Amino acid sequence: MPLTATDRVAGRATAVVEDVPGPESGPPCPVDRRYVDERPDGLREDALAAWHRLRAEAAKKRVWLCLNDGKRSAAQQRREFTDAVRRFGTRELARKYVLPPERSMHVTGTAVDVQPHAAAAWVERNGRALGWCRRYENEYWHFEHAASHVADGCPELLPNP
Ligand SMILES: [Zn+2]
Repeated sequence: MPLTATDRVAGRATAVVEDVPGPESGPPCPVDRRYVDERPDGLREDALAAWHRLRAEAAKKRVWLCLNDGKRSAAQQRREFTDAVRRFGTRELARKYVLPPERSMHVTGTAVDVQPHAAAAWVERNGRALGWCRRYENEYWHFEHAASHVADGCPELLPNP
């Protein structure tokens, strides 16, 4: 069953989370212009609040976190996956770098890609207290939010998506 935003009309969802797009891009990351710093639009409410808190904590330590990518709709994720299949030749190879829409936490609005590398390393060291965990060995930039991470700690890293 798809996750839905608040029903305003009984029996009718106003928006399916998977259909809500995120920004396609954003202004250049002020500390490293190879990346962008997009608005966190579309992140799930709890993840959005946790993202703002994470940024504020980092800023206190003079670390600037750029949101190189956050929310994606299923359509946006599918486009990335299709591109990766084209680039790597097979779905199996593509899967190591990009997840199909039904598996990606970017589509549910609970994942962020943080750049540059030093900023992501800061999140890896300090994000858990706010529910942010790195998930993959081959993606230093990708973090997922869950309230349970605060109490339970981060799950073990997986080799790749
Ligand atoms: Zn990611």
